[in-house]
Amino acid sequence: MARTAFIYSSALAEFKARPGYPWIFDRTEKTYRLCDELGLFDPDHTRVHHAVKASRADLLTYHTSRYIGLLEEANQGVARQQWLRYGLGTTECPVYPGVFDYHRLAAGCTLKGVSLIEQGKAQRVFNPTGGFHHAGKDFAAGFCYVNDAVLAIKNWRRQKKRVLYVDIDAHHGDQVQEAFYDTDQVMTISFHESGTTLYPFKTGFEHEIGKGRGKGYAVNVPMPENTPDEPFLWAFDRVFPPLARAFCPDVVVATLGADSLFSDPLSHLQLTNNALAKALETIVSVSPKLLLLGGGGYEADGLARAWARAWAILSDRTLEAQDTVQFGGMFWGDGLAALNDRPRFVSEKTRNKVKKALGHVVRTIENNVFPRFGPLAREPKRGRSMAS
Ligand SMILES: [Zn+2]
Repeated sequence: MARTAFIYSSALAEFKARPGYPWIFDRTEKTYRLCDELGLFDPDHTRVHHAVKASRADLLTYHTSRYIGLLEEANQGVARQQWLRYGLGTTECPVYPGVFDYHRLAAGCTLKGVSLIEQGKAQRVFNPTGGFHHAGKDFAAGFCYVNDAVLAIKNWRRQKKRVLYVDIDAHHGDQVQEAFYDTDQVMTISFHESGTTLYPFKTGFEHEIGKGRGKGYAVNVPMPENTPDEPFLWAFDRVFPPLARAFCPDVVVATLGADSLFSDPLSHLQLTNNALAKALETIVSVSPKLLLLGGGGYEADGLARAWARAWAILSDRTLEAQDTVQFGGMFWGDGLAALNDRPRFVSEKTRNKVKKALGHVVRTIENNVFPRFGPLAREPKRGRSMAS
């Protein structure tokens, strides 16, 4: 069994921004408690690790010192007008007491994961408070201030490791893509709601495939609003496994945003955690080592259940048949079974519209990206086919 590590810090839950700010500060706490209740911390294979704040030197491997200096000042909780051009003090990235401490700690949790994997202490690590994929070199954006995913990848790049970054979040992983857009040593693959209906609006379209040496190493699967499980999994299986196999990474960094769930108030997808679980199982199967980050998620119950399920998958804990009973085709059960979302009804009309749009996206990727990887990306496809 794989050695797994869950990165925990009770301090993360103690921060507060202004009332009504949708960020769930106790995302790690909620996930941790649910996993604990369900007995998912197996002492033989799992360690729960505590993290410390990322150092200034860690942050400067990606962010500018000017920007980090502003974040340090912002930690007092008083915003300045001139910071707006760095994205600080906006509705999505407000300045509040401890804002820098919180984001340094979150980044520290991700970097702890990197070092556990590097030291051989864990093969799969989960930091629920991670995946701040919209933070730029010198700006905050979309609830993100410090880009922990980029910091992790940069860390591995210093050791010449090939890193595959896969992002399943309602929003495009724009700044992770941007940071590695011109290299063939990092591949970024993002599945997200299309920019035609959701932030960050301007990026994440299928024709963005990287530049220079990086051409073919950035892959985008924009999904129409109301995308349900089946077409998402069809597109995921067509795109992700062949490219992961062709790229042959040393390590995989994945973001599994719970804002892609139907229950999320800030996006328009119709995915259930059953689809996220299936996609994660595939990610685990191709990852020699895996650092999993939480990403977005603005509905607490859905987030905790999706991520507890993710942790169960990392820990090789599967649902036992005796845990569930079927009533009229619906599963009912305790323990792990209680984490599963009910199947989601989506009209035939919507389903067909989504299939058509995703069919076009996948064909574009197969035409523009796959040929760059030769036969490796063209092995016979196993798994689901999309009827009609
Ligand atoms: Zn998101």
